[in-house]
Amino acid sequence: MRIDCPHCGSRDIQEFVYRGDASVLRPDPEREDALARFVEAVHLRANPAGRHIEHWYHAGGCRAWVRVERDTLTHEIESATFASEEIGR
Ligand SMILES: [Zn+2]
Repeated sequence: MRIDCPHCGSRDIQEFVYRGDASVLRPDPEREDALARFVEAVHLRANPAGRHIEHWYHAGGCRAWVRVERDTLTHEIESATFASEEIGR
């Protein structure tokens, strides 16, 4: 599998480290049920079959955090952008 790093171009997956589900948002710490929401956000994960949004870290390259949209069944990558571009979503 190869990932198109937005800075380096197409690179082998061995240069990257999987850093988790990019669709999970940080809970509001001011909420009354914040602890339960943090436990859920940190420890509970879905195992989707199909399209998935993930964070990958380009450890063997430019050290950028990359947001990847990938199909978990076919490993086809639809897009790869800098994770910093998702701020404000
Ligand atoms: Zn890179």
